[in-house]
Amino acid sequence: MSKILAANFKTNHTRASTQEYVEKLDTSMGELGYLDDLYLFPPATALNNFNVKNSIHIGAQNAYPTIKGSFTGEIGVEQLEEFNVKTLLIGHSERRHILGETQEFIAKKYIWFIEKGFKIFYCIGEPLEVREAGDKAVRQYLVEQLEGIDTSYENLILAYEPVWAIGTGKTATAELIERTHSMIKEMVDKPLLYGGSVKPQNLAEILAVPGCDGALIGTASWDAESMISMLEIA
Ligand code: 13P
Repeated sequence: MSKILAANFKTNHTRASTQEYVEKLDTSMGELGYLDDLYLFPPATALNNFNVKNSIHIGAQNAYPTIKGSFTGEIGVEQLEEFNVKTLLIGHSERRHILGETQEFIAKKYIWFIEKGFKIFYCIGEPLEVREAGDKAVRQYLVEQLEGIDTSYENLILAYEPVWAIGTGKTATAELIERTHSMIKEMVDKPLLYGGSVKPQNLAEILAVPGCDGALIGTASWDAESMISMLEIA
């Protein structure tokens, strides 16, 4: 099976630099003959109808479960449709832990957007204290992060992103990823990405892990050259 690569820009890049990035990636994908799907999650202000020749899909990092309405600071489906965005990231650890999204709200968002036919990248992952408590605690934590989520939905891609590995430079070992992915796959039989300090230097090893269907990349995806070097590896 081909691997899925996804780049989460988080709060980085402007509209202009995203445009430049997409052009660079599109050219390189053509030159490399890279045929797999690539997903980019730019900040909401940089969403656009990009004119690309290759399979670059644009997703939103966040949206509110509404067509439009009075939700100050949020964007709804009307704003996403303007840019043909039908892909959404839900459950990212930064939204859970920094923005305080509860599992109840995340599940509500999920149900709402799957009804609208969105492709969902759904993130789960444990904090360090849970990891240190052992596999049983990790399993319980991940089960709770899947509460209210209809995992039979056909357009679902899961991402396992241990909180302690995000933006820290501490990548999970291949052995730990394999063990945890196999645990998750027993619960949900869907494509499963790994995320957490993925970079050109460790991508090949991570993609070779049995049960790893791709990578969701933060920091190392923000530089176009770094991302292109990862396309060459994938
Ligand atoms: P880093 O690659 O910076 O660890 O971020 C991972 C992530 O959160 C992707 O969604």
